[in-house]
Amino acid sequence: MIKEVCLGTSLAVLIFLTILGYNVVPLLLLGGLGVFLFLMLDRKGLGASSGSNSYAQPVNFTFDDIGGQAPAKQELKEALDFVLHAPKIIEMGIRPLKGILLTGPPGTGKTLLAKAAAAYTNSVFLAASGSEFIEVYAGVGAQRVRQLFKTARERAVREKKGGAIIFIDEIEVLGTKRGTNAGHMEYDQTLNQLLVEMDGLRSNERARLLVIGATNREDMLDSALLRPGRFDRVVSVDLPDKAARCSILRLHCRNKPLGEDVDLDQVARESFGFSGAHLESVTNEAAILALREEQPTISNRHFKEAVDKVMMGEKLDRKPNQDELYRIAVHESGHAVISELLRPGSVSHLTVANRGRALGYMRQIPEDDRYLYTKESLVKQIRVYLAGAVSESIILGARSTGATSDFNQAVQAARQIVTAGLSPLGIVCEEIMSKDMLHQAIQEIVQQQEKEVAGMLDGHLDTLKEISSLLVEQEYISGTTLQERIEQAKLEKQAPLEV
Ligand code: ATP
Repeated sequence: MIKEVCLGTSLAVLIFLTILGYNVVPLLLLGGLGVFLFLMLDRKGLGASSGSNSYAQPVNFTFDDIGGQAPAKQELKEALDFVLHAPKIIEMGIRPLKGILLTGPPGTGKTLLAKAAAAYTNSVFLAASGSEFIEVYAGVGAQRVRQLFKTARERAVREKKGGAIIFIDEIEVLGTKRGTNAGHMEYDQTLNQLLVEMDGLRSNERARLLVIGATNREDMLDSALLRPGRFDRVVSVDLPDKAARCSILRLHCRNKPLGEDVDLDQVARESFGFSGAHLESVTNEAAILALREEQPTISNRHFKEAVDKVMMGEKLDRKPNQDELYRIAVHESGHAVISELLRPGSVSHLTVANRGRALGYMRQIPEDDRYLYTKESLVKQIRVYLAGAVSESIILGARSTGATSDFNQAVQAARQIVTAGLSPLGIVCEEIMSKDMLHQAIQEIVQQQEKEVAGMLDGHLDTLKEISSLLVEQEYISGTTLQERIEQAKLEKQAPLEV
C-alpha cells in the first residue's frame, strides 16, 4: 500500500514539474537508481518488508500424514505440549521451550515433522535453510535472522495464531562451531544473532515463537547452540524400520491405483536402508513405469523395477559384446547360486541389464532388518560377495576387473570379523595392531572362504551354466525360477540312473 502511494505521488510530482517546464530527466535517472538499489537490498533481505517474505508457508500437514517415526513423533508431541499449555507452564514457573533440534539422515521426514508440529500447535510455519543466511556481505546473515524472527512475530499476531514455528533446515551451515570458518566473520555474526534471538524468546509474549532446527551433522554444531535454554530437546529421526517403511509406502500409495498382486509388505522387506524420501520415490517411479506401459494399475513388477532404479540408478543403454555379456551372466549367477544355497529364498532376482555403474546385478531379499551380525552371517556375506569372481574363474578360466567392488565389500566384512573380536585372534585393539597383522588376518578369512565357495560351486556346475545361459537369453531371472532350477538339479542328482 505504502509503495503504491509513493509511486502515485512521485508520478504526479513529475507530471506537475514537466507542465511547469522543468527538465525532469535527471530526476528520472535519480529515481530509477533509487528503485534499483531498493530492489537489490530487498532481495538480499536488508530491506525486507514485514508484510511478505519467502519463508512463510501454508501448513496443511498433520502427524497422521507421516509414516512410522513413532518415537520421534511422541517425543516431539511431548515437547510441543509445553507450547500448547503455555499458561500452565507460566503458572508453574517453567521457562519456555525455545528450540527443538531434529537430527537424522537426509529424507527421513524432519521437514514433515516440523510442518506437522506447526499444525499441532496451530502456529504459523516459517521455513528457511541455513545456507540462505550466509552471504559474502558481512552483516546480511544477521539481518536476515533478525528479520525472520520479526516476521514470525508479526505474522502470528496478524493471523491470530497462538505462535509461530521457525524451521531452519541444514542448521549446521549457520550453526557451525564458531571459528571453524577462519577469516569469515559473517558465519559467526549470523550464529551470534540466532543465539541472541533465541535468548530473547519469552513465554509471555503475544506470539510465542519456537525454533525447530534440522541437521544430519549434529557434531558440527556450536556447543552454545546445544546448551540448555536454546535447543534443549534433541529428537532423533532415524531411518524407518520394516513396519515404518510399510506405513510410508501405504501413505504414498493412497492416491495410486494398485494391482492385485502388489504386496507392500514385501516391498518394505526388500527396501532395507531406504529413507522416507527413497520410498516416496519408489512409489512414484512404479507409477511412472506403469504409465509408460499404458497399464491401468501398478503391478508388483513395477515396484520391483522401481526399487532397483532407486537403489542402483537409471537403466543404461550400454551394450556389452556377447563375450562380456556371458561373463556378466556367469558372475551374477555365481552370486545368486551361492546366496540361494546359503539361504533358500534369499534371491529376489538377477539381471544382466546395465544400471548406474553396475553391468548386471543380483538383488537379495534381506532376511529381516538387522543391526547386529554374527560371525556366521558375516561369513555368508563374504561368500556371496566372492561367488561372482570364483564363478568366472571356474567357468571361464580367468577373472575380470568386474569384481573389484565385491572384493572391497568382502574385505570390509572380514575386517569387521577381526575388529569385532570374532576371528581366531580374539579381541584385538585395531589402533595398536600392526597393519601387516590386520591384513594377514583379513586375507586368511577371505582366502578360506574363497576355497569354500569354489567347493560349493563345483557341486552345482550344471545349474550354474544353465542359469548363466538362461540369463543371457532372458536378461532377467526371478528368484522363484532360480529356486526351481536348483531344486530340479537336486532331484536329478538323487534319481537313480536308468540302465
Ligand atoms: P533433509 O535432511 O534432506 O532436509 P528431511 O529429513 O527434512 O530431509 P523431508 O524433506 O521431510 O526429509 O522428506 C522428504 C520427502 O520424503 C517428503 O516430502 C516425503 O515425500 C518423504 N518422506 C520422508 N519421510 C517420510 C515419512 N516418515 N512419511 C511419509 N513421507 C516421508
